[in-house]
Amino acid sequence: MPVSRLVATEPEIETVAMPGGPVQVKWRRSGHARRLTLRIDPRDGTVVVTLPMRSSRRTGLTMLKDHADWVRGRLAALPESIVFADGAEVPVHGTPHAIRHHRHRPGAASIEAGEIIVSGDPAFLRRRVADCLRLEARRRLTALAWEKATVAGLKPRRVLIKDTRSRWGSCAPDGTLAFSWRLVMAPPRIQAYVAAHEAAHLRHLDHGRAFWSLVGELHAGWERDAAWLRRDGPRLMRIG
Ligand SMILES: [Zn+2]
Repeated sequence: MPVSRLVATEPEIETVAMPGGPVQVKWRRSGHARRLTLRIDPRDGTVVVTLPMRSSRRTGLTMLKDHADWVRGRLAALPESIVFADGAEVPVHGTPHAIRHHRHRPGAASIEAGEIIVSGDPAFLRRRVADCLRLEARRRLTALAWEKATVAGLKPRRVLIKDTRSRWGSCAPDGTLAFSWRLVMAPPRIQAYVAAHEAAHLRHLDHGRAFWSLVGELHAGWERDAAWLRRDGPRLMRIG
């Protein structure tokens, strides 16, 4: 596809051979960028190359290769990604749970006593663990969002669970709250903070002073939990 047809909001992903192994590159084109930039997206370990309108993708590739050492160093420093597999350890509500595959147990997957028990064909294990955690996320976050909204005298229109790696929660102007299912892995205080944050957006769609004051009423000590998300959130985004 010619570079000129790239759309700024829809990055194109490409695997690029680099010294030290292939990397996933996300190409972005921006009318605001004055120079070519490289950054690492910690959520999925891709290299994001932002090109100003007049730069060619070939210039981007040259710059990428000139910075191969930097890219390799940054990728190596990322937290390890965890794939759902038999024996893998995954936090549920902040507590480590081991995934255990029992082929002949009835039911698809369940969370019990420090373990995630998955039955059936191992080929479906990853999917079943994800479905199970998503269901648990729905249960927990729907309850928390309603609880926080009710304290503030507000009402969400509905609560959705999404597979987002870019944000923990969102509030649409129509009052729909959405949360990333990966929040199910975070400690309960963090889940409560994100629920309070999005519930507060039902009244204030911006991040102004009145908004943060309401967040403080709904979740005392939110600063510490917001800091936790900035520090430890990228690790959770790499699980699953
Ligand atoms: Zn917000």
